[in-house]
Amino acid sequence: MIEILKAMAARIDKEKDFLTELDNEIADGDHGINMAKGFNAVVPKIEAMAGKDIGSLLKTTGMTLVSTVGGSAGPLYGTAFMKAGAALKDKMEIDANDLIAAVDAAIGGIQMRGKAVEGEKTMLDAICPAHKAFKAAIEAGEDVKAALGKAVEAAQAGVEYTKTIKATKGRASYIGDRSIGHQDPGATSATYMYEEFLANI
Ligand code: ADP
Ligand code: MG
Repeated sequence: MIEILKAMAARIDKEKDFLTELDNEIADGDHGINMAKGFNAVVPKIEAMAGKDIGSLLKTTGMTLVSTVGGSAGPLYGTAFMKAGAALKDKMEIDANDLIAAVDAAIGGIQMRGKAVEGEKTMLDAICPAHKAFKAAIEAGEDVKAALGKAVEAAQAGVEYTKTIKATKGRASYIGDRSIGHQDPGATSATYMYEEFLANI
């Protein structure tokens, strides 16, 4: 889990300028800066946690994001990681069902804080379809890696979908219909996290 989180942090840092550019097109151009700042602060904290349970790692990740990232995505992702951490409390290993419980809790946290549903051009438009695809694949008997592959595909399709809809939550909603045609930065960063999860399990 430490390696996965570090890979997510590295990817966010690598895509920082692109994420900021996406945010600049429809809002205030800080998503990449916000996310990189938060995830770069996460790295030394989790590196110092070798041997700790997975729940604690995710909780520390979430608390660090909430405390270091301004804007809405930091607290939203932070809450997501904290809720996932609570769902995996004391676990030194996790299986598919644990992962499902963790992401269910993460989505619940994002919705509790942000009050968005699917179709509002947010990170949920990547995360929710990805999670549904993951659950469907596990139910169909696929292994975690294959199911995560399906999740990544669904997240990528979700990012494409965000180009077709208008934002009704967050700063991008201020420009209404003019947000159509642009991909959502938060859906994009969420997809990078899924991609790095898959690449590093
Ligand atoms: P801010 O909008 O405060 O500048 P960021 O630029 O870091 O924060 O993050 C913007 C992203 O946050 C959006 O692209 C969107 O995916 C996500 N977002 C904004 N509001 C919500 C919400 N209410 N629920 C879920 N995600 C949201
Ligand atoms: Mg922004």
